[in-house]
Parts: sequence; structure tokens; C-alpha cells
Amino acid sequence: MGGTFDPIHHGHLVAASEVAAELDLDEVVFVPTGEPWQKAGKKVSPAEHRYLMTVVATASNPRFTVSRVDIDRPGPTYTADTLRDLRAQRPDAELFFITGADALEQIMTWKDVDEIWDLAHFVGVTRPGHELNDFGRDTDISLMEIPAMAISSTDCRLRVNDGKPVWYLVPDGVVQYIAKHRLYRADAESDQVAL
Ligand code: ATP
Ligand code: MG
Repeated sequence: MGGTFDPIHHGHLVAASEVAAELDLDEVVFVPTGEPWQKAGKKVSPAEHRYLMTVVATASNPRFTVSRVDIDRPGPTYTADTLRDLRAQRPDAELFFITGADALEQIMTWKDVDEIWDLAHFVGVTRPGHELNDFGRDTDISLMEIPAMAISSTDCRLRVNDGKPVWYLVPDGVVQYIAKHRLYRADAESDQVAL
């Protein structure tokens, strides 16, 4: 499951959990994006913060892991590259790419869109405020209804900046990580993390 994860929230985690259960997946790999080209011009937190929040959020689930392939690859993230890198690390795995309804709408604008269908099965999940459809194309997209979680990272960032709580929208450890590093506050310089 690829995403900006700025920050990761319970909508992401429920989507991953539902798809894993429904398809009996052995592992869900969360892949935070490197430089998010579709959000060019928008301010995105440093990759290390997004990566560490994703690790914190998924640590307790033995089937959830986090991959650095996109943040360690220089340049903008393209899903075809992500899938090729994951395939190289897991040559025998059957890959599924989990995506919300809004991201599925954007899929057709991706680079190498025609080749991604050969790299993984695509699973589109419902997301409040977005229509889920497979565009009637002859493509390998499965559609799945999941419990509606009207949560977005954008809303979480705005809430933090407004001094509103994000408890229960994001995992407890992520609430604490955001506070510790003063993320998403217009009035404070966020910590830079060097690893
Ligand atoms: P932002 O508001 O910054 O775009 P976001 O909440 O959309 O953040 P992303 O990191 O952009 O989160 O999303 C990663 C993936 O998770 C995308 O495929 C997106 O469609 C999906 N997703 C995000 N939130 C939900 C949700 N509440 N329900 C279902 N899918 C979701
Ligand atoms: Mg998004």
C-alpha cells in the first residue's frame, strides 16, 4: 500500500487490514512515497518523519511491514518503480496494490500506466466522498467495500495546526510523534530527522 502517509491514519490501517483479511494476504507492505510528484508544490513532511510514523503505526501488527524503497530511491516516486523494486525483493510473491477510490481516479495519469497491470493486481477500496469504479477498462482492478472512515491526512494536519485533537483519528503513538516533533504547526519549525 503506497501513500504519502503525512501522517498515517486509521483510514489507511483499516483499508490494509480489510484487504489483507479478504484476500488472505501474508503481509501488507506500507510504502511511504519519496518526493510525491503528484503533490508537487504542496508542502510534504520530510520522508524520515513519514517513514517513522508509519513504522510506529504498524509496529504491533505482525503482518504489517514498512518499506523504504521509495524514500531511498532518488527522484519522484512512480508506482511502476515501486512495484519493480518490491518484486525484486520478493521474486516469488504475488503482489497486490491497495489504493483508495480517489487514488484510483488518478491512476490513469501515472507514468507507465499500461505496464503497471502486469506488475500487480490492483485493489480499489471505498473512501467517503469518492466514487469507486474501475473505469470500465479491461484492467485487473478488484473493488472492495470497506468500513467508511472519513479521515484524511490533510484534515489531520489542519487539525493539529488549529490546536484540535487527532486522538483516535491516528494511532496513539502517531499523536505523540506529531507532538514530540512539532509537526504540522505553522508557528513552529519541525524537527529534522537524520538517520
Ligand atoms: P492527503 O490528504 O495528504 O492526500 P490521504 O488521507 O489521502 O492524505 P494518502 O497518503 O494520500 O492519504 O493515501 C494513501 C492511500 O490510502 C491512497 O490510496 C488513498 O486513497 C488511501 N486512503 C487514504 N485515506 C483513506 C480512507 N479514509 N479510506 C480509504 N482509503 C484511504
Ligand atoms: Mg491523498
